[in-house]
Amino acid sequence: MSKLLSMFENLDRGELTYPGGAEQNMDCDIVVVGGGGAGTTAAVRAAELGARVILVEKMSSLGGNSRFAGGLLSTNSEYQKSRGMRDNTDRYIETAYKHHKYTLNPAIFRRYISNSGTYYDWLVKHGLDTENTRWILDDAVCLIKKRTHPGYLGGHPAYGPGLMGSAILDLMKAYIDEKKIPVLLETKVRSLLTENGRVTGVLADGQNASYRINAGAVILSSGGFGGNVEMLRRFLPQYFSTDNYVSHYCLLSTTGDGIEMAEKIGAEVGRNMSVGISAISHIPGTYTVRSIVRQPLGILVNKNGQRFLCEDEADDAEFAMDLQPEGLGYYIYDRTSLLEAFKLAIETSPYGDEPPTWENLETDLLREKEEGKLAISDTLEGLCDYIGCSPEALRETVERCNRHYEQGYDNELFKKKENLRLIKDPPYFAIRILRNFDVTMGGVSINENLQALRPDGTVIPGLYVTGDCASNWMGTEYGPLFSSFAWAMNSGYIAAEEAQKHVKDNN
Ligand SMILES: Cc1cc2nc3c(=O)[nH]c(=O)nc-3n(C[C@H](O)[C@H](O)[C@H](O)COP(=O)(O)OP(=O)(O)OC[C@H]3O[C@@H](n4cnc5c(N)ncnc54)[C@H](O)[C@@H]3O)c2cc1C
Repeated sequence: MSKLLSMFENLDRGELTYPGGAEQNMDCDIVVVGGGGAGTTAAVRAAELGARVILVEKMSSLGGNSRFAGGLLSTNSEYQKSRGMRDNTDRYIETAYKHHKYTLNPAIFRRYISNSGTYYDWLVKHGLDTENTRWILDDAVCLIKKRTHPGYLGGHPAYGPGLMGSAILDLMKAYIDEKKIPVLLETKVRSLLTENGRVTGVLADGQNASYRINAGAVILSSGGFGGNVEMLRRFLPQYFSTDNYVSHYCLLSTTGDGIEMAEKIGAEVGRNMSVGISAISHIPGTYTVRSIVRQPLGILVNKNGQRFLCEDEADDAEFAMDLQPEGLGYYIYDRTSLLEAFKLAIETSPYGDEPPTWENLETDLLREKEEGKLAISDTLEGLCDYIGCSPEALRETVERCNRHYEQGYDNELFKKKENLRLIKDPPYFAIRILRNFDVTMGGVSINENLQALRPDGTVIPGLYVTGDCASNWMGTEYGPLFSSFAWAMNSGYIAAEEAQKHVKDNN
C-alpha cells in the first residue's frame, strides 16, 4: 500500500470522528455536501436563486483543497471584454482537446467553458478585488497579483497567502454569513437518501447530533479521493500498487466520500480516472528547495547511490521512480551547482511569482536538514547514511559523472551537455525526491446538466455532482491551463441552477 506524505505535513488533518447523536430532521430545497470551492459556490448561487439551502462540511472550516488553488480560468467575461482582452475560448477549447487527446466530453466541456465568463463576472459582482488580480497565459487565467512568496508566510511552509482560491472562498463565506445560509460544520454526510430511484436527501453525523436532511435535490461537492489509499489503489493501480512513498498536495481529508455514496445508490463511477503525477518532486519541502530540483544540474541517484534516470528527462518518469527502492531518489549537488540551480530557478520562476531570496534558501536548507528532508555535508561520504548507500557507490557515481563533464559527454544516460556539472565543491547536498500527485480526476459520471448517471446512461433524478467528485469527463490527462479549480467553481454554479430548476419542476 503506498505511503502518503502530505505537502501540508502536520498542518494537514485527516477526517475527524463523527459520533453523531439523536437524529434531527431538517428540510430544505437543496442540500450541498462539502464546503470547498464547488460546494460554497453552489450554496451561494442556489440561495441567490431563492432556494432554501443547507451546506454540510465535515471539517472545522469551509475551504477544502480549493483554498490553495492558484489560478482561475475565465474566457470571454464582460470584465475581460471591457478591457480589450482577447477572447480565448476557441483557442482554449482546441488546446484542451489536443492535450486530452480527444478523451474529454465535448458537451460538458462546452457548457463549463461557456459559463466561465459568466462566473467571473459573478465574482466581480460579489466583490472580487480586481485591482489585485493579473492575467497570464494569453489573458485566459487570472491570478492574484501579489502572490506573496513562497516560504513560510501565513505560517505555511508550502504556500503563502494570495491565492485565487482563498480570495474566492472569502467572498463565498461572506455571502453565506450575511445571508445566514445554514452550515453544519464538523458534520459528515454518510449516505444519500433515495425514494423510488430519486435522491431525496442525506444522512449525516455531527459531533453531538445526527441529521436526516430531506431535500428536493442534493449537490455532491465532496472533492476527490487523493487522501484515500484504498481508492487510489482501486482506481489507479498503475501508480499506487507498490508500498513506495508518494507525496501529494491535496488534503488528507479528501477521501472520496461522495464517489462512494453515489456508487452505493447505483451511479457509475470509475471511468477515465486519472491523476496529475510528477516523477521527481521535493514534497513535502519548501518552495525554495523545490525550485532547485526543477533544474537538472545535480545528479539523481537512488538509495543504492546509483543513477537510474537521465536528469533532464525526468518529467514523465514516474514509473522509473516507482521502480527504485522505496520509490525514493536523491538529488546530489555541490555548492556551485546548487547556487547555479537556484539562480536559474529564479530566472525561470513560473507565472511571475515573487522570487525567493538567497536568505530564504539558506534558512530553508537548514530547516529542511533538521526535518530530515535533505542532508548537507562537507564530504560526499557524509551524505551516505542519510541516503542509505555505501560511500564507495556514491563516490563511484559522482566520479563517473565528473568524467562526463570533463569529456563533455554522458555516455551512460545521455544527459544534455549544457546540464553536466562538476560536483566537487563542498558542502554537498542530498535532496530527497519522490513522486508527487495533486488532484485526482474522475469520480461520478455526469451529463452536461451535472446530473449523476447510472452505468446505462440514465439520469439519477435529484443528484448533481461537481468539482473533483465528477471530473472524469475531463479525459485522461491532468488539465491544461489551471482547469480543475475553474471546473470546480463553474460546476458548483451550474449545478445550483440545474438543481433549483429540478426543485421548482418537482414542486
Ligand atoms: C495546493 C493546491 C493547489 C492547487 N492549484 C490549482 C490551480 O492553480 N489551478 C487549478 O485548476 N487547480 C488547482 N488545484 C486543484 C483545485 O484546487 C481542485 O481541483 C478544486 O479546488 C476542487 O474543488 P472541490 O470543491 O471539488 O473540492 P474541495 O475544495 O476539496 O472541497 C471538498 C470539500 O468537501 C468536504 N467533504 C468531503 N467529504 C465530505 C462528507 N462526507 N461530508 C461533508 N463534507 C465533505 C471536504 O472536507 C472539502 O471541504 C490545486 C489543489 C491544491 C491542493
